[in-house]
This record gives sequence, C-alpha cells and structure tokens, in this order.
Amino acid sequence: MLNDKDRIFTNLYGDHGPDLDAAKARGDWDGTAALIQKGRGWLVDQMKASGLRGRGGAGFPTGLKWSFMPKEANGPVYLVVNADESEPGTCKDREIMRHEPQKLIEGCLIAGAAMGCTAGYIYIRGEYVREAEILQRAIDEAYAAGLLGTDAAGSGYDYDLYLHRGAGAYICGEETGLIESLEGKKGQPRLKPPFPAMVGLYGRPSTVNNVETIAVAPTILRRGPEWFAGIGPDKNSGTKLFCVSGHVNKPCNVEEAMGIPLRELIDRHCGGVRGGWDNLLAVIPGGSSVPLMPKSVCDDINMDFDSLRAVGSGLGTAAVIVMDKSTDIVKAIARLSKFYMHESCGQCTPCREGTGWLWRMMTRMAEGRARLDEIDLLWDVTKEIEGHTICALGDAAAWPVQGLIRHFRPEIERRIHEYTAARQVAAE
Ligand code: SF4
Repeated sequence: MLNDKDRIFTNLYGDHGPDLDAAKARGDWDGTAALIQKGRGWLVDQMKASGLRGRGGAGFPTGLKWSFMPKEANGPVYLVVNADESEPGTCKDREIMRHEPQKLIEGCLIAGAAMGCTAGYIYIRGEYVREAEILQRAIDEAYAAGLLGTDAAGSGYDYDLYLHRGAGAYICGEETGLIESLEGKKGQPRLKPPFPAMVGLYGRPSTVNNVETIAVAPTILRRGPEWFAGIGPDKNSGTKLFCVSGHVNKPCNVEEAMGIPLRELIDRHCGGVRGGWDNLLAVIPGGSSVPLMPKSVCDDINMDFDSLRAVGSGLGTAAVIVMDKSTDIVKAIARLSKFYMHESCGQCTPCREGTGWLWRMMTRMAEGRARLDEIDLLWDVTKEIEGHTICALGDAAAWPVQGLIRHFRPEIERRIHEYTAARQVAAE
C-alpha cells in the first residue's frame, strides 16, 4: 500500500483549490527554474533513472521517449499533451485537470525544456468543458505569474503553452490522429514511420505524452528518481492513478503503488466487490481495449504492466472495470464492439470492415443466434484485424473479443445450445 507521504496528487479529490496559490502551498513550482537550468541531458537522464513508463496506455519509458527528440533543430519543436481521455472506464486525467492543473502546467514547462521545445499544446477532449475552463484559467494564472512565456519561471527559457479543445472523437486520442486534428484536419492516424519525434505537429519534431505522465514529472525531479524507482516492482516503478468502476461498493479514483494486488486495490479503496469477492465474474483491468480476466486470474494478479501482460491482458490506462455475476458478459463485450465500430476512422479495411463484423457477430452471439463453428470464425476475424491496421484501434477492437472467447467460450456455447434447442421446440 502507498504511504501518504509518497502521494504525488495530494489534491486528487478537490479538498483544496486548483488555483496557483493553493498549488504552490502543495509544493508545485518549487525550484522549477533550478531544475530547468540543470540542462536537457540531466532532465532526460533523471527521467530515465526513475523508470517512469507512459501512463496513457502503452507504457513506453518516458525518459527514453524524450531522448528521441533531436538535439539540434533548426526551427520550432513541440510538446503535445494528450488530454483526449476517451478510453471507456478511464477518468484519471480528468481529476488532474480539475484539481491539480498546475502540476500539469509545470510538467509541460519542464518536459518542454528537457526536449528543447519552443511551445506546448494540450489537446483536451471536447466533452471536458469544465476541465478546459479550469485548465485555461490555470494557464492564464501561470502566465500572469511569469511561469510561462518569456523567461518562464525565471529559468531563462522561453516557452508558450496552448490549450486546444477537440470535438469528441475517440481516435483523436491516438497520437498521430491527435496531431492531424490539432492541425485542423480530420483526426485520421498517420502511418509510422516517420514517428512524431522526426515529423510531428506541423511537420516538426514533436513528442506526445499523456497528462498523468507529464503531471508526475516535476515531483519525480524534485524528490529524485531513486524515490520514484523505489516504489513498485522492478521496471514497473512509481505511483499510478487507478480508476475503478463497475460493480464495486465505492467506485473511485485512487493513487496507489504500481504492482498493488488487484484484490487489495478493490477491497481497500472501493469497499470490495458488490456481494463479496466470490460474486466477482471478471475484470477489465486497463480500459475497455484490454482483454478481460476471469475471477480465477483476478484472485492473485498484481496491477502493473508486466504482470498483466503475462496473463494475456494489460495495464492500459489502469481503468479497472469490475463485473460481478449479474453481468451479461457476452452482451457487455458486444457493446464494446459497437463502440469500436463507431469510433473507427475508416482508413484501413481490416478495421473499417472488421469492427462491423465483430459487432454483428457479437450481437448474434449474445443472443445465441449463431453456429458453434462461428466462434472460431469470430476468433479468425479478430486475428485478421489485429496487427494489420495503421493504428492500435484495430487491436483495441479485437482484444476484448479475444479475451471473451479465451475465458468464456463455454458461456457462448451454452447460449447457442439454448437458442438452437428453443428454435427446435418452436418448430416442432
Ligand atoms: Fe482508422 Fe481503424 Fe485504421 Fe486506426 S485502425 S487508422 S481507427 S481505420
């Protein structure tokens, strides 16, 4: 369990104001100039040593990502913060922007300095209206206090920060789709390579980072990488915001140590599974795009990147969706298939056509209106999508269905048998 003294987000629940004075009282903007003046190399090395892995879902090492930016760039270079939090079940960045906006803004300045950026853009999902208002107010406050703009925070470094509101499309959370949208185009992901570190926003070197990733950076640098690396398991270090929803007694957002056992997370912070642990059916541990885990796996799984990957799932955004035995699990996954079909940008055939196939087949499976051999066909369709598309939305659509077949095939078969039997009775 995480000690209170190790919490980064001390105002996660909005007990205090989000304003600059309150943020400074919590320790934000303390010695920022001195950190920046230690130089790019030092900042990147510290982040590498902390072991921080990106908090947006992929878990790529942050310091390494920052090091990909060119050392010499003849022209503007950008930091882009992905605040397009749209993964179903995920609401962690929302709380940062509501209650700890200065952590994000200070992080933008420091990350910008670490990569030699001339400006930063925060791309926030359109539906986050109040959060955008709070964030803009916080940016204005930071400018008024000299923390952004020319000689930002007295560091000698010039840095501008802009807030951009999206129009509400899941695919704009994909980094290159986000960049396209920020440029005023349709939010359709780009083929990679070239990666954004070479050709990003407006054709210039850019790095796209998640809100939580950027917001934790100042505290890591102030407290030292050893402190952060000392929390959680090897290669999965640090604290993490978990958002737990679904069939628990008290759904919540909570900052915990990486690697906390799932059962402890739910029992300690969420009042347990509704009806008790034995009433648990399955958990989606990292936002809707990762494969579910049945109770037998949940019993002793730890919540970190590598442990979850080892059991065929993933930490993703750490949005934990808990489903008790009242859940119609096939229908629940069918609903996710509809979501991904709706959000496909349509550029690649396997995703555009395949997500529709998945949804139509899953709808029939939920009713039992299918043949047994179609379960294998459904599996094949997911495999034709997975890894064959421009961006990860194809995988995100395939994995929930794969998780369902892997762990709940008997349930799908039971429905088909029941439906077939009922049809025969009716025919007779
Ligand atoms: Fe668009 Fe889907 Fe292809 Fe991603 S995988 S680029 S969402 S069609």
